[in-house]
Parts: sequence; structure tokens; C-alpha cells
Amino acid sequence: MVMDNNQFTDIIKKINQETGKFYDFLEAHNPRLPSDYWFQHPPEGLTLFLVLYTRTCRWARCLGCNLPSRESQFEVPFYDIMKQIDHIFDFVLSREQKENLRKIILSNNGSVLDEFTFSTTALIYFVAKMNMNCPNISVLTLETRPEYVDMEELEVLHRALQEGKTSTNLELAVGFEAFDDRIRNEIFNKGVSMETFESMVEKTAQYGFKLKTYFMLKPVPGMSEEAAIEDIVKGINYLDTISRQHNIEINMHLNPTFVARGTVLETEFRKGNYKPPKLESVQKVVLAAQWKQISLYIGLNDEGLAVSGGSFCGEGDEELLEKLQNFNQTGDFSFLKE
Ligand code: SF4
Repeated sequence: MVMDNNQFTDIIKKINQETGKFYDFLEAHNPRLPSDYWFQHPPEGLTLFLVLYTRTCRWARCLGCNLPSRESQFEVPFYDIMKQIDHIFDFVLSREQKENLRKIILSNNGSVLDEFTFSTTALIYFVAKMNMNCPNISVLTLETRPEYVDMEELEVLHRALQEGKTSTNLELAVGFEAFDDRIRNEIFNKGVSMETFESMVEKTAQYGFKLKTYFMLKPVPGMSEEAAIEDIVKGINYLDTISRQHNIEINMHLNPTFVARGTVLETEFRKGNYKPPKLESVQKVVLAAQWKQISLYIGLNDEGLAVSGGSFCGEGDEELLEKLQNFNQTGDFSFLKE
């Protein structure tokens, strides 16, 4: 469906009204600068997490999500997105960082493979700049909703990623959020069915690409700590089975939920109906993934999007937080058994 700016903003406004969201979009941002970027140090090596500034996620319905508030409700043209890419490769990354980078996670707080929000020209330009500047990248991760993954794009990306100095594998990162269908789609409004997810897995597996799935611990109000843990453990077992069936490498990226500003979760938190998960629950879930074929990474950064007191990390959590950070860097479960 072709939409102009006005139609799109009307639709987004309506979705926000229907889903009880009350944040504003970020129109004051310079469209020639990325939204954000930071570095991570997982076992695979130096990783750049890059969030480009584009038109906002057009799904926009997910219950606790205010990521669209970091983007624009208007089109950001491909030449501006290309300037953002230039900024990163020409002014942010040092020569040493370019040499050492092993992985880049590319995001627009929505779906990089949705051409309505993220220009295809800019995506191809990004791969070209990465191939030219970063000779040792082994994985490029693209964040997207699964329905935007199509074979034509995968084919082009597959070819382009072979052309760098080191052959680069593609990882698709999709939000799954909760294993339970009712929680995921009826309460959280994720709009991702098992069929859509598994169809994307099949496409991804055909190219030998990797998969990252985002899950949230305790994503909705009314969930006990035990139910939250159980849901993620079921998710781990499901992904383990999928990984074995399709011979595909899967990473679960588990985000302990924080209370995001301007969402229903904030409203419920202020009424006393929602508390973020405990960090000990994260520890229990991580231990359930030991001996599985899938790997696990814990998202310990609320990206400044949480309301005051609405983070999963509070006073007295420093020691466990450090252990979880160590786990992220090494994949070694023994830190969490001590
Ligand atoms: S979680 Fe992702 S798909 Fe859902 S509203 Fe947020 S950005 Fe869009």
C-alpha cells in the first residue's frame, strides 16, 4: 500500500490512541545523524549497535514499547540516512575500531527490512560502506519484524556480504517477546504468529543465516514472577527444538522488561499494577539455557527509555548485575552458579 506522510501520521496517531500510548515522536533530531550507537563486548568480539534515524515503526502497537518515540513520524529520505551512515564510518569509528569490529547490529527502532521506513538504497549503501571500511566483520545483524523478510532481499544481501574482505554472515533479529500466544498477541499486541515466525526461519535457514530472537521477561501486567520465568523457559525449549530441526544458529536476546515512558506499562506501574522483574529471575532463566543448542544474551541496557524506578535493576543488584555482564561477555554459566 502506498501512503503519503499525512496518511501515515493519521494511522500512527490512531494506533497510539487505540493502544493507550502517549509519547511524542522525535522531530527535532538532525536527520543526518544516527539516533544512537554504542559498543558491546560479547564473546564474538567487538560489536557496534547502531540505530539509524528513519520513519518510525509502522506496527507501533506493542504494549510496552516506546521505541517509535526515538524516530520520526515523517519520511527520512535515503540521502539523509546515507549521511548518517557516512557519519559513523567517517567520523565515529577509529581506524583501530574499524579493524577490530567483528559484528554490527543495525536497527532503526523498528524494521530495517521494511522499505517504507528504511530505504533500500540506504541499506545497500550501508553494506557497501561496511565492506569497504571494516574488513573483519563476521556477522551483520538486521533488526526487523519477520513479515518483512523476503527471499529477494536475502539473496541480494547474501551476495553482497560475500564480497567483503572476510565473508560476513547475516543474522536476522526479530521480536518474539513472549512464548505464550495469548500473551504475545492478545495482551502484548505483537502481531507475530508462529506460522509467520516459522516461515521466516525456513527462509533464513536456506541461506545458512543466523537468527536472534528478542524475548522479554515479564512483558505485561498481571504476570507473576514464576509465570514470567516459565514463559521464557518454554521459549528456550521451543527455540532449541527449532534450532535442531532447521540446523540454524539461534541466539535468544532476553530483555528484562523495564517500564517504558508513555506506554500502558507506565500507566499500570503508576497505579501499582506492575512491577519490573527481579534480577534473580533473570539469573534463573539464564541457567535454564545451559546445555541447550541456542545461545543467550541478556539486554541490560534500558537505553534511557525507562521511567524513574521502573528499571529491573535496583539498589543491591550491583553484584548480580556484574555477574550477568560477565556472562554476556564470556557465555560462561559458572559466574551465575556461584
Ligand atoms: S516492539 Fe518493535 S514492532 Fe513492536 S512497536 Fe516496538 S518497534 Fe514496533
